[in-house]
Amino acid sequence: MSRTIKGQSGEWEIVIGMEVHAQVLSRAKLFSGASTEFGAEPNSQVSFVDAGMPGMLPVINEKCIEQAVRTGLGLKAKINRRSIFDRKNYFYPDLPSGYQISQYKDPIVGEGEVTIDLKDGESIKVGIERLHLEQDAGKSLHDQSPDNSFVDLNRAGVALMEIVTKPHMRSSEEAAAFLRKLRAIVRYLGTCDGNMDEGSMRADVNVSVCRPGGYEEFRKTGSFKSLGIRCEIKNVNSMRFIAQAVEYEARRQVDLLEEGGTVRQETRLFDARLGETRSMRGKEEAHDYRYFPDPDLLPLELEQDWIDSIAQSLPELPDEKRARFIAQGLSPYDASVLVAERELADFYEDLAKGVDAKAAVNWLNNEILGRLNRDGLSIAQIPVPAAANNAIIQMVADGTISGKIAKDLLDIVWAEGGDPREVVDKRGLRQVTDTGAIDAAIEKVIAANPAKVEEIKLKPKLAGWFVGQVMKETGGKASPAAVNAALKIRLNLPDEG
Ligand code: ADP
Ligand code: MG
Repeated sequence: MSRTIKGQSGEWEIVIGMEVHAQVLSRAKLFSGASTEFGAEPNSQVSFVDAGMPGMLPVINEKCIEQAVRTGLGLKAKINRRSIFDRKNYFYPDLPSGYQISQYKDPIVGEGEVTIDLKDGESIKVGIERLHLEQDAGKSLHDQSPDNSFVDLNRAGVALMEIVTKPHMRSSEEAAAFLRKLRAIVRYLGTCDGNMDEGSMRADVNVSVCRPGGYEEFRKTGSFKSLGIRCEIKNVNSMRFIAQAVEYEARRQVDLLEEGGTVRQETRLFDARLGETRSMRGKEEAHDYRYFPDPDLLPLELEQDWIDSIAQSLPELPDEKRARFIAQGLSPYDASVLVAERELADFYEDLAKGVDAKAAVNWLNNEILGRLNRDGLSIAQIPVPAAANNAIIQMVADGTISGKIAKDLLDIVWAEGGDPREVVDKRGLRQVTDTGAIDAAIEKVIAANPAKVEEIKLKPKLAGWFVGQVMKETGGKASPAAVNAALKIRLNLPDEG
């Protein structure tokens, strides 16, 4: 997880930049009205435009443009009021038109920034170079038949956002943290579902190594010459694989350089099964795509009012939410964990209504998350709604029930449902603060344990044991504070510390 790796000849620094493809959340494709629904029958969602039929004209989908602008605003990026769609020409069986419509020199979104919070409390900013819109290609299927390959064009023409970072990440931890944060942002914005299993989000990871100081020099001068030659690892589709791919690739480059070799700028693929990267094609095999502006599409011009109205509709994003939670008294760590998933943050806010923030977050961390994990449920599937949990926390705070009973109560409503306040009444779970009942329990414990009563005169620390026994005697319903106070008087205990 460190920013440097040790070679035989000394230390090396790791530098990482990423190109992330994020599928735009939109019901229709970028230039056609065909559906984008995942998992449909092959070739059932293909318009004549998507199939590359001669003479068909692309018609831009405003929703996709709005989603790209919304994402750009969420990345605190410059929105380019004029952008151009280009044809990126290449031949591939899953690309019937012979070109992909993309954006090249004039993307819809320019420079922006994403803040990532690391485990040790440090925050770093990762620069965004650009965001552009492009069409996805179809999918070749080679595993359906022993002697035929098939093409499924359902995905052809689906809108993708390609988000390109500056080379501002410096460890596998930072690379994974960046992608996690980017995923959280687009999910908050509702512009991409972030579903990496379905390929809605995938990353190309560029890795290079250089001698210590190289990165500092690059940040000062902006000269890429201070950095090492990079390799691009294509289509890595999980946080864990990103970390593994970076670690493997950086180590491979260091070993190569120390043996006197040179790193070739090339495209590599990550083999998740072997945990290693392998060469796919070198720079000399890189395609010349002959980009040119698509003559079927006019330059895209956006009105500032329209951009402003999107800006006004943005939700509170993770960074702002985190800052607000910290101001409410949560630790930076707790706040980061909560805001990582919008559902979790929303649940927490309902949970914490009118109760102490720290009490709410402790309840969430210690009681709720463990039970969800045990039952394999997500926060959206929790059987006890936030309001019911909130009622339990309130009952502890106002002394209606003890902390111990609160946990039992959660178990009951978790398994059987019901309103926690009613369950408390029906089952007689109210905390006993009645001193008569507590005194009676104390007398019972004292009478049953004469030896301990002698012992405690020498070892006042035994008080805890007595509290436990009295609690047990009352079925966990006594107020521990009241028991403590009564015991102190009855057994003549000194005030502690
Ligand atoms: P290309 O157009 O060939 O893909 P770019 O200049 O657009 O190249 O860079 C692609 C990605 O590679 C960007 O995310 C960038 O930050 C990253 N990158 C560029 N140089 C380096 C380097 N020396 N080390 C690591 N990443 C790099
Ligand atoms: Mg690239």
